[in-house]
Amino acid sequence: MGIDYNAYVGPYIVIKPAKKPTVTKERLLRVCANGHKVQQSSIYCSSCGTKAIDMVEKYESEVDFYELIHDRGLENQIHEDYHDQIEPGMKMFGIQISMGRKCSFDVKHTTGIENLTDLNIKAEIEKVRTECAQALAFLEEVCGAKPEIRWGVIVSHR
Ligand SMILES: [Zn+2]
Repeated sequence: MGIDYNAYVGPYIVIKPAKKPTVTKERLLRVCANGHKVQQSSIYCSSCGTKAIDMVEKYESEVDFYELIHDRGLENQIHEDYHDQIEPGMKMFGIQISMGRKCSFDVKHTTGIENLTDLNIKAEIEKVRTECAQALAFLEEVCGAKPEIRWGVIVSHR
């Protein structure tokens, strides 16, 4: 067993959710005209004898970001990321779009040198803002807070 050391250089997204992400789901409910719940297999209500009907009930269900991102088809824009060096209550998301350069480095056995002298940080942030626009809007919608695009170095080991 070994440890993988990884360094990432580039843009990432942080957000401090003001609410838990939920989606509206539907479930079938069998009830009678008097509002009693009736077993799925029964035709009549066992409490009042009224005929049972099926109705669709909508409810809010808490979901995780991984599920939400995939449901919305946004897995080619962002991915949920975990980091213990970030402020409490803050969530981090990685970028899935290409920056057109090497962003991640396995630093276990080799020394990686990347010349970033001419790198335009503001342009990379703008690229994320444009190409991940749907994902950013989605995060704002489900978190009730505005996501922030940052640019930096993330070093991790696992
Ligand atoms: Zn009833």
